[in-house]
Amino acid sequence: MVRAVVGANWGDEGKGKITDMLAEQADIVIRFQGGANAGHTIVNEYGKFALHTLPSGVFHQNIMNIIGNGVALDVEKVVAEIKSLTDRNVPAPHLMISNRAQVVMPYHVLFDQYEEERLGKASFGSTKSGIAPFYSDKYAKIGFQVSELFDDDILKDKLDHVLVQKNTLLKYLYKKPEIDPEEMMKTLHEYRDLIAPYVGDVSAYLYQAIKDGKTILLEGQLGTMKDPDHGIYPMVTSSSTLAAYGAIGAGIPPYEIKDIVAVTKAYSSAVGGGDFVSEILDEQKADELRRRGGDGGEYGATTGRPRRMGWYDCVASKYGCRLQGATEAALTVLDVLGYLDEIPVCTGYEIDGKVTTDFPVTALLNKAKPVYETLPGWKCDIRGIKKYEDLPENCRKYIEFIEKHIECPITMVSNGPAREDIILRK
Ligand code: GDP
Repeated sequence: MVRAVVGANWGDEGKGKITDMLAEQADIVIRFQGGANAGHTIVNEYGKFALHTLPSGVFHQNIMNIIGNGVALDVEKVVAEIKSLTDRNVPAPHLMISNRAQVVMPYHVLFDQYEEERLGKASFGSTKSGIAPFYSDKYAKIGFQVSELFDDDILKDKLDHVLVQKNTLLKYLYKKPEIDPEEMMKTLHEYRDLIAPYVGDVSAYLYQAIKDGKTILLEGQLGTMKDPDHGIYPMVTSSSTLAAYGAIGAGIPPYEIKDIVAVTKAYSSAVGGGDFVSEILDEQKADELRRRGGDGGEYGATTGRPRRMGWYDCVASKYGCRLQGATEAALTVLDVLGYLDEIPVCTGYEIDGKVTTDFPVTALLNKAKPVYETLPGWKCDIRGIKKYEDLPENCRKYIEFIEKHIECPITMVSNGPAREDIILRK
């Protein structure tokens, strides 16, 4: 059985925690898109960890963790991440890296920085991990597949060809030092040696695993709003964040994905630019929620940047769940809202005088004004509660209100950062 855990919103919905929890029941956990530009936070018996490229099953010795072909593989970061686990007494994880994954080149990271500098105020708020230049090259067919690292003739020919273009840009557009092909060759040999123990034919492995009835978890990064096609383009990421892409980014048939869990946080947060309709504009209120939010505040897991804060957005989340094809939703970080007397929830967007519950294209999004309904708060700490019926009535009403508006059953409610802080409704 293949299940996907994906974000219904802008990312940082708490997917890491839900994935970590569901990973316990899985045989295989797969990252299928994105790169080291975002992070999951996982709290378990070993401590608190921010994972960027490694799948969330790395804490379980009985799980095979896979970095699929759809991922932007930053070799140095993956190796450093493995070390950061073993340094803290986590046993070395079982890991397989697809021979079809492509490698983030050192110049992708540089181009990401140089381009953001060049754009100045018009920049995308990139995390400068090289993700956009990486995917540009992948689709321009000048990327480097893991399998190619093992063939020096291919590597040399390709580098000669690619570096002409890269060095022209470096010299004339960015006025930066050029890349020496021999140095780059050396780096790629280092990469090859670092990942050699992990490289495998992932789709063949998964074909057999599906036949054998294994439980497989596809782990999404970011959320629907960051999808390059269905999100808030151009303030999006460069690979698809949708569950459907899990089939491509792992190399399995689409019809094998039977269960899609969309993770949605009990309030909104976003990083980077772009329209954010339910943003809390009162800085004091936003800051209070930011400080109380998540586990230790709403600051980026990779960058440490303060996140933009908003009230729950049913319009964005309904759309987010629909595009994910969610069969169920997990509502997270609900415990954080316990301090509020009342809680606004965005139930519609007013665009040109008309109220809609359908999420619009980006060109209309900046005209959208939030329509709020205000629900009473529950004014207590709900951490530690295990049964849905034991939640305060106003809290249940909040959950059921959201469930109705997003048109997706909320089967899991997360009331704390730890694995056991979960209320199952199924
Ligand atoms: P992801 O990228 O979707 O995995 O999200 P993050 O890793 O940014 O997770 C958001 C933060 O919320 C992390 O610090 C988690 O430890 C924390 N978190 C997850 N679920 C809950 C919850 O139910 N309650 C609280 N208080 N924190 C949570």
